Amino acid sequence: MTTKESSKAKKSKTEETAGSGEETLTFQAEVSRLLDIVANALYSEKEIFIRELVSNAADACDRLRYAAITEPGLVDGDGDYAIALSADKSARTLTISDNGIGMSRDELIGNLGTIARSGSKAFVDQLSGDSKGDLSLIGQFGVGFYSSFMVAEKVEVVSLRAGEPQAWQWASDGKGAFTVTEATREERGTTITLHLKEDAAEYADQTRVRHVIKTYSDHIAFPITVKDSEDEGEPETVNTASALWTRPRNDITEEQYTEFFHHVSHMVGDPWSTLHFRAEGMLEYTGLLYIPSSKPFDLYNQDRASKVRLYVKRVFITEDCEELVPRWLRFLRGVIDSEDLPLNISREMLQNNAVLSKIRTGLTSRVLRELESKAEKEPEAYAEFWENFGGVLKEGLYEAAGDRDALLGLSRFRSTQGDDLVSLAAYIERMKEGQTAIYYITGNDIEALTRSPQLEGFRSRGIEVLLLTDPVDEFWVPMVGAYEEKSFKSATQGGADFDDIKADDTQSDEKKADDKEDTGAPKEDVDRLIAKLKLSLGEAVKDVRVSNRLTASAVCLVADEGDIDMNLERILKAHQQIETRAPRILEVNSGHALIKLLAEQAKEDKGSLDDAAYLLLDQARILEGEPLPDPVEFARRMSTVMTKGMGA
Ligand code: ADP
Ligand code: MG
Repeated sequence: MTTKESSKAKKSKTEETAGSGEETLTFQAEVSRLLDIVANALYSEKEIFIRELVSNAADACDRLRYAAITEPGLVDGDGDYAIALSADKSARTLTISDNGIGMSRDELIGNLGTIARSGSKAFVDQLSGDSKGDLSLIGQFGVGFYSSFMVAEKVEVVSLRAGEPQAWQWASDGKGAFTVTEATREERGTTITLHLKEDAAEYADQTRVRHVIKTYSDHIAFPITVKDSEDEGEPETVNTASALWTRPRNDITEEQYTEFFHHVSHMVGDPWSTLHFRAEGMLEYTGLLYIPSSKPFDLYNQDRASKVRLYVKRVFITEDCEELVPRWLRFLRGVIDSEDLPLNISREMLQNNAVLSKIRTGLTSRVLRELESKAEKEPEAYAEFWENFGGVLKEGLYEAAGDRDALLGLSRFRSTQGDDLVSLAAYIERMKEGQTAIYYITGNDIEALTRSPQLEGFRSRGIEVLLLTDPVDEFWVPMVGAYEEKSFKSATQGGADFDDIKADDTQSDEKKADDKEDTGAPKEDVDRLIAKLKLSLGEAVKDVRVSNRLTASAVCLVADEGDIDMNLERILKAHQQIETRAPRILEVNSGHALIKLLAEQAKEDKGSLDDAAYLLLDQARILEGEPLPDPVEFARRMSTVMTKGMGA
């Protein structure tokens, strides 16, 4: 919904007081709920509202500075941006002013209340979930402004949009509604006045406010001043007010790096890794990039957008530039500042831009090298990174042919051989003599995968199988095909040919015990059974055959060699990408007691095996986690067979 539509939609609920131009509007329902939680939260670090409001003020200055490149009239000669805070103890207020871009009436209404920002609901969910969410993450969800209601019983925003004649006031006590009124403001920009709650009186004290600014907002590239409302004269600038990334590495403390990370990422805690670099030569740019130590909430959003900020010669250009960072590195946060792009670069010019694509290549290889070094030197820390972002990085295996080898080297997997993550190199080193393929199985979760019947034969022979649980695994594996000339082979597809593989010595006894020649049903009986099962099942299966994948289970389903992988089919079906399922091959374990009994029955030709055949097939489907096509028939067959079994 656009701002216009929304204010129109709300018009009906609007009360207009004649003459004054005052309108009362209601908050969008999700915003109301959020405000309710924020206002009543028992939370000790309320001071973060200052960080949020200052960050908005800085954004507003950034946006005007960028707009003024093409429309100099907007700043009217006043290109000195500043953020000023003023504390008033006796009135118990704190005001935050900026001379940034300001907000029009529609923008006030849209940005501060009536349009659901995508993060409002996600933030509320995060707070009310079991995991006891963190209020200080509010900025990450794009709703930082509302943090002012943690400390204020009433908030007034007076704003004059640069280039517009009329200023507007937005005011609210955060309880369901807000008013919008005509106002006066001499200069462009925004002033926010917080009428503080009694228990938040400390923020009307300039010393306290100054301390908070020092702690959270030192890196803001515009001067921030703090004063007591009584003080006359020029207030001092509190922050360092230069772009952090332009300073030499040695001059920057760990704390400053971390604080800047919090600012650009809206995340908490320490970054997992910090890369600060300057590229010189053909292209000149500075990068200050962070790899977070936790997952941003929107990591798997549909748009897969990167949030690295693009600056040109210290001027903020945009935060959503698709070309700057590959999507499979979208967990990166931070800043790239280019010396080569023109300042007045437009969105269209950012597309297919040669400079940007070179920067992207450069930063990608830096990040990959950093990951390689961490993987080698700090495998445990690397495993943490992998848990958070491995699923995203693997998207590159599919998308970025040029970086594929590096990414394969960086990839880690769970496997049937213990809980540790394994690399492909380690897998290959452990391969059995005669084994030529890298075996894998895909599915939703490790638990279910480890219990897959298809793995029984691998396990009994000590052959390691990779357990892949990210949706993207379905796509990159067929694309990549092989690693170091060992092809990837699904454990649930095609025939499992173990003849050439030398099984574990330690497990050969067990293997012997399972050996079908010794304990299985006679071959001709099994053949007859299989013929009958095929007859009963008809089109419901592609084939029925004896398995050498199974040791404990009676049956399992596998995909034929050239057919679509079973898990991929499930994913595509769930996303309505395909209509029907391909028929599968039903494999039976001729060493299993049930199959032996059925083979006997088949020999004696005691009528139809239909019920048994379908029960076997349905059982295999259940093991796959697939829904039964006809549960009613399943129940009927089950009852019939059980009744017989009980001797009725
Ligand atoms: P975010 O900053 O992540 O967009 P906020 O809740 O902090 O989310 O702010 C909501 C929006 O309100 C901003 O995107 C911006 O459009 C507008 N806004 C807030 N403060 C200001 C300000 N000082 N000047 C101009 N616009 C502002
Ligand atoms: Mg904000």
